[in-house]
Amino acid sequence: MKKILKNASELKGTMPSKKQLLQKLQKEIKSYFPNEELVFGHGNINSKIMLLGEAPGAEEVIQGKPFVGRSGRLLTRTLEKNKIDRNKIYITNVVKWRPPFNKTPKTSEIKESLLYLEKEILIVKPKIICPLGNTALKALTEKGNVTKVRGKIATEEIEGQKFLLLPTFHPAAILRNMNRLSLFEQDLRKLKRFL
Ligand code: URA
Repeated sequence: MKKILKNASELKGTMPSKKQLLQKLQKEIKSYFPNEELVFGHGNINSKIMLLGEAPGAEEVIQGKPFVGRSGRLLTRTLEKNKIDRNKIYITNVVKWRPPFNKTPKTSEIKESLLYLEKEILIVKPKIICPLGNTALKALTEKGNVTKVRGKIATEEIEGQKFLLLPTFHPAAILRNMNRLSLFEQDLRKLKRFL
C-alpha cells in the first residue's frame, strides 16, 4: 500500500499543472499564428465557470486581456451588480486575435481556432460554459441563435466530456439595445450557484 501511495505521489509530481498545460497551449497557438497579436484567456483557471466571447478588440489587444473594452466594462459592471466576482471566473474568446477591421470572425477563423478552444476547455474543465452571443454559441454547437436558446441550460460534449452550456447575449448586443439588459442579468445570475 505504502509503495502504491509513493508511486501515486511520484506521478502527481510529474503531471503538468493546468497552468503549465495552458502555457504550452499558448506557445503552440503562438507558433501557428506568429504574426497575430494574441489575447489568451484570463482569470481563475480553477473556476467552474467559463465565459466565452467572440474575439478581442483593440483595447483587449493593448491590455492583453479579454473583455476590457466597452463591452467588457458593461460585462464587468453587470457581473458586479449581480454579485459575481469577475476574478473568480475564467474568461476567454473563440478567436484569440483581433479580426481585421474588428469584424465578426469569419467561418475560416473560427474553424482555425476551434481545435485550440477545445483544448483550452479540456484543460480548464469548467462545469458550465457561457457562450456570449452567436459566434461563441455557434463555435460550440454549430447552431447560433442566441435569442432562441438564451438562459436555457443544455449539455455539450467535447471529446467525450460533458459540459453544461448557458448561452446568453454578447455584451455588445446589450450596448446596442439596453432593453435586453434585464434578461442578460437574469441569465448571468444562473451562474452564481457554480461560483
Ligand atoms: N472583447 C472580447 O474580449 N471579446 C469579445 O467578444 C468582445 C470584446
